[in-house]
Amino acid sequence: MPANRPAIPRELDRRVRVEAGHCCAIQRCKWPIIEIAHIVPWSKVKRHEFDNLIALCPNCHTRYDRGEIDQTAMRQYKENLSLASPLALAIHPDHFDLLSNYQRFRILIERWIDRLTEFTEGVESRVSKAEIRVRFAKVREASKQASHSWVRFALQSPRSVSVLVDQVFHGVANWGSQVLRIPLRDDFPRVMPLTPGAMPAVWSELHSAIYDAVAQNELESPGESTDSWHQRLL
Ligand SMILES: [Zn+2]
Repeated sequence: MPANRPAIPRELDRRVRVEAGHCCAIQRCKWPIIEIAHIVPWSKVKRHEFDNLIALCPNCHTRYDRGEIDQTAMRQYKENLSLASPLALAIHPDHFDLLSNYQRFRILIERWIDRLTEFTEGVESRVSKAEIRVRFAKVREASKQASHSWVRFALQSPRSVSVLVDQVFHGVANWGSQVLRIPLRDDFPRVMPLTPGAMPAVWSELHSAIYDAVAQNELESPGESTDSWHQRLL
């Protein structure tokens, strides 16, 4: 390793290893001794990024460096590790609902936050009353859609996920009530308002919970050991 190359941060290193189940990411290999490889070489990117990192055994790593395995193939191996890959969903179709609910919820919550931000900016920059009314209507529409996706997602998720999903919805609603200066209904939970700056950490936590729930479900499926999982794959 060249002297000017920084080490991969511990948290990132762990994520890459967990993604591959602490085995070589090449599905037929699965050797348990692994190194972290850059798909596009470090010398070109000069950065450690999750999407460009993959766990490989020393043997597969050497074969990749020699060009026996090309970059397109390596991208495919990386893609196969994703919970949302067609391959993963073909094996666990029940994960499809969870993942699509998650995606929809995330998009609609982000949209709601964007509309609230536009509303605040409108108030601060003193746009016309008519424009404020337009932005207010957009907030209401976005919050309605977010609320529908929240109910659906929370009802169809395992408990470990639905707790977080509730926290996200309640947090944004509390922030929205401050922004719009409209009190929440009496029975609505009062929690710490979630502002846009807090969202990356929130999404990261929810993402991990979903990942864990899916992994748990894989463990619980009768007769579905990791080995048979891979035999069916290839
Ligand atoms: Zn290998």
